[in-house]
Amino acid sequence: MSGLADHLRELIADEGPLTLERFMSLALGHPTLGYYPTRDPLGREGDFITAPEISQMFGELLGLWAAETWVSMGAPAQLRLVELGPGRGTLMADALRAASVVPSFAQSIDVHLVETSPELGRAQHEQLEKTGVPITWHAGIETLPPGPAIIIANEFFDALPVRHYVRGARGWHERLVGLNDAGAFVFGLSREIEPTLSAEGPEGSIIEICPAGQQIISTLAQRLVAQGGAAVLIDYGYVETTLGETLQAMKGHAFVDPLAEPGEADLTTHVDFAALARAAAKEGAVVHGPLQQGFFLSRLGIFERAQALARRADAAQAAQIESALVRLVSTQKGVTVSQGTVDGMGELFKVLCITSPELPVPPGFGEAQL
Ligand code: SAH
Repeated sequence: MSGLADHLRELIADEGPLTLERFMSLALGHPTLGYYPTRDPLGREGDFITAPEISQMFGELLGLWAAETWVSMGAPAQLRLVELGPGRGTLMADALRAASVVPSFAQSIDVHLVETSPELGRAQHEQLEKTGVPITWHAGIETLPPGPAIIIANEFFDALPVRHYVRGARGWHERLVGLNDAGAFVFGLSREIEPTLSAEGPEGSIIEICPAGQQIISTLAQRLVAQGGAAVLIDYGYVETTLGETLQAMKGHAFVDPLAEPGEADLTTHVDFAALARAAAKEGAVVHGPLQQGFFLSRLGIFERAQALARRADAAQAAQIESALVRLVSTQKGVTVSQGTVDGMGELFKVLCITSPELPVPPGFGEAQL
């Protein structure tokens, strides 16, 4: 049994059941025993794989997106290029390489990475030190320096802790995590009613809320409105707020019980894009999308980029490029690519952009929306 599970058992024994939010927050983020601070979870040997790890095209297109957005901001002489949860630093490395075709952009940026994992921080350092771009690490968004900014977040919001509420006869009860007689973690409910929740729903229904995500979006939106810029958020999630919960745990690329191995499995939820959009709009930011990832990447020219890469590749590399392209843009479940059968990310993943009010529609976001 992991050190974190024992720590959580002690906490519950001392303080009583934990809210799901606290359980998730400690499971993912406990500074010495949590999931993210203690490992590199990405890639084939890890627990899950992300778009920038599938193909360099993903980061490259976002780098060009950032350069074009910077031009539309009036090409400010100093730009904060921020990434939230940069993983291995692959997206940023690919973005910086691609954006170097716009030298004035490359000269204007300093990079700020928001990361809580020392392990991944090291990987980012290794990946990015050769770029020569000034890089600063931050444990949270609070210490980001002021000024015009472009903010990128891929699969960051799905890793933030959520609260669950279950409808009882008299109102909504918060979901808690306690222990059964055998010492296993089990869900339970708070006795009290949550007075601030007025949502309707039949008995037994569940509401999932991500206060940390909404807080981060509100703060970023305030900043963008006051100082200019744009944020692009890419994640799996849904477009309308609905009842139901989406908590899932992944270990070794397979789903596992979210309570079984705290600290050892990745815990995530699907992102409620409507809630993020509302939080940003409330601060006066302009919201674009969400668009499906496949549509967004096509708009940015991923098919053309894949063709250009394939022209310079041997047959095996060309097959890999084709596989990566299909994986990133396909809207189908169960597509066969060189690594086996996978679900296309084109539809489940969405792209939301928030900007300061004076900016034009950002690249890729014109016309059709979901
Ligand atoms: N964006 C990367 C990694 C996604 S995994 C990619 O697409 O490959 C989630 C990332 O967010 C990791 O880098 C993780 O360490 C970081 N992270 C998770 N919770 C965080 C938090 N509360 N604050 C800052 N970073 C966090």
